[in-house]
Amino acid sequence: MLEELRRVVQEVSAVSDLSRALEIIVDRTQTIMASEVCSVYLFDEKSKRYVFRATRGLNKQAVGKISLGANEGLVGYVAERAEPVNVENVGDHPRNQYIAEIGEDAFHSFLGVPIIHQGQVLGVLVVQQKSKRKFDESEEAFLITLSAQLAGVIAHAKATGTLSLQRARRSSRLFKGSPGAPGVAIGTAVVIYPSVDLDQVPYRKIRNEAREVDRFEKAVVNTKQDIRTLAESLAGGLEQQELNLFDAFLHMLDDSAIPREVLRKIRKGQWAQGALRQVIQDHVSRFEVMEDSYLRERGNDIKDIGVRILGHLEKTDRRKLHFPRDAILVGNDLAVGDLAAVPIGRLKALVSGRGSVNSHLAILAEALGIPTAMGVQDLPMELIDGGTMIVDGFQGNLITAPTNSQKAYYEKVQKEELDLQRDLEGIKNLTCRTPDGKRTLLWVNTGLLSDVAKSLDRGAEGVGLYRTEVYFMMNEAFPTEEEQRKIYREHMQAFSPYPVTMRTLDIGGDKSLPYFPIKEENPFLGWRGIRVSLDHPEIFLAQIRAMIRASEGIESYLRIMLPMVSSVSEIDAAKVLIKQCYTEIKEEGADIEMPDIGVMIEVPAAVYQAADILERVDFLSVGSNDLVQYMLAVDRNNSRVAGLYQEFHPAVLKALYYVAQTANQAKKGVGICGEMAGNPAAALLLMAMGYQVLSMNSPNLLMVKKALTTVSFEQSKALLKEVLEMNSADQIKQRVENVLRENGLSQIVRSRR
Ligand code: PEP
Ligand code: MG
Repeated sequence: MLEELRRVVQEVSAVSDLSRALEIIVDRTQTIMASEVCSVYLFDEKSKRYVFRATRGLNKQAVGKISLGANEGLVGYVAERAEPVNVENVGDHPRNQYIAEIGEDAFHSFLGVPIIHQGQVLGVLVVQQKSKRKFDESEEAFLITLSAQLAGVIAHAKATGTLSLQRARRSSRLFKGSPGAPGVAIGTAVVIYPSVDLDQVPYRKIRNEAREVDRFEKAVVNTKQDIRTLAESLAGGLEQQELNLFDAFLHMLDDSAIPREVLRKIRKGQWAQGALRQVIQDHVSRFEVMEDSYLRERGNDIKDIGVRILGHLEKTDRRKLHFPRDAILVGNDLAVGDLAAVPIGRLKALVSGRGSVNSHLAILAEALGIPTAMGVQDLPMELIDGGTMIVDGFQGNLITAPTNSQKAYYEKVQKEELDLQRDLEGIKNLTCRTPDGKRTLLWVNTGLLSDVAKSLDRGAEGVGLYRTEVYFMMNEAFPTEEEQRKIYREHMQAFSPYPVTMRTLDIGGDKSLPYFPIKEENPFLGWRGIRVSLDHPEIFLAQIRAMIRASEGIESYLRIMLPMVSSVSEIDAAKVLIKQCYTEIKEEGADIEMPDIGVMIEVPAAVYQAADILERVDFLSVGSNDLVQYMLAVDRNNSRVAGLYQEFHPAVLKALYYVAQTANQAKKGVGICGEMAGNPAAALLLMAMGYQVLSMNSPNLLMVKKALTTVSFEQSKALLKEVLEMNSADQIKQRVENVLRENGLSQIVRSRR
């Protein structure tokens, strides 16, 4: 059974056309289950009905013409209950509905299972028999398993496979993801794909056919050369039979084989990478459905050849450097490093197939004020490249080929946002004090030098988090001490006389350096932050020396902050190294103060050791992005569980309150630098808890200031007391947002949608 299941899923995945995929499903299911009928009904968004989409055994003429509502017939019953319905004799069932056109009079037994993807019923898969008998448990289990496995494939085919290229470019479609960074943008899609991933290569038209042919032919020559070199280097260690494999590879690259097919597609106007992708995929899908496991494996060989050719093609692709003025970067798994490729000013929005609002890509995008949608799945990458699209970063939605009325609506939203920003400009020089006199320091999170001017312009009074790893990520090798010193100094000079909090290198998790890859099963529970630094003192020492030396003669004072601390021994070890650097630099003759040292509270263990940590350092800063992920066991980067990532969770609020109280009792500095600090609703609670510093992405600063200068400290304290008694995150969020509304700040709540 398992093998049959695997084969059907493979076969369906290999086709891009939805109707064809459904045909295969009904055909294979009917055969495997030896049933007389198999049909699929799919939900239609427009009519809100389940449409009869494919059948084997019933009247094919009715396909596409018949549909059932969620409260109609047994199919509607399956969908409504979202569970299997197994009926011995449909005639006896109260929900049975007779539809003459379908031709099911002769079939008495019915087994229908829902097709569910991401909690939504996409459709219903049905098998029927003439005899009056209940399908047995193993048949039911098989159909449920098949449907569960096919749901994702059907969702993808539904999203991508129904449209021709021309129609996809012309017809407006909505793709839902989750919010990444606020704002909306209208622009042109530029698809970014990993240069080793053939499946993500988009469709692109070419003008210069001769150049494309030339590039492809050279790539083939180079790939052949690679294979020969590889074969020679392995010649001593392999059997002749294994070496023959290399000959087989070379044959595939003969002029009459794969290259001929690719060239044919190039001559029809496709670019070389796209043509290669189509040809390789066709071959691979033919191999993947073969019974024989040896032959199936040959599909992988063809893919391997394709990836090698692609690698050579990428090297000669000048087009990669072209970005239109209104570029919207789209990728299945965009990373922070991808932003470096786009000239500043041309990037209007980002769309990533993976990740969520708490991913580092989204955080950086928010800091740069770039509207972003995250976790937008099932994007037909090969179809959308180069087309016009709208990104709604508030909702996390993407609209391809927007209509004029959609454009007009979003232009209105853009204008409202601009108006709000303009209104807020008026308070940028105001001190952040509640009407009854409570002062809070509003600092910024930075990573790029380009953040500095915007931050100061918005009235930032310091840097609460300088993410040093952003600079490391843009480099091609570890930067030297001197290179780092220069960058850090520029940052400190720009912010002088305000304090600058530099976080030591925080890599691991979803932040990797191209020149220092970390491959782990569970990266967020792995080698991250201080753990890497302590295992590589040479990197840590160079960074600390660069930070301390950068501060020489500058008025603003330096604070060094350690990320991902989970025990005091890490702090003790790091302090020894920091003191060593300071002593050396003093001995070298510099006149420098010892910087303040602080720790980020990002791990639940650190919350409950706050008092012990405070005995060792000058300040604490809560990294709520990670703290929420670790407290709630919700991967901050996983769009599937993004709805469970709740900053207002009662347990999170209690932990945050405990940290603030502990630091205030110890008379030490306490701040928060996670995204929560930039949420005006959360800011009210944080101020009431006793956080002295709120550090955030600069675009949020004036909104937070508006909230804190409008609502009184007394009201916020009463609000905190009230919400600490509540037990649901949604209830707490609603209550705090209502307080903002009652204080005339509805537009700010709307803007955080
Ligand atoms: C945090 O975890 O809240 C934080 C500020 O650090 P980062 O988002 O860079 O992990
Ligand atoms: Mg963190």
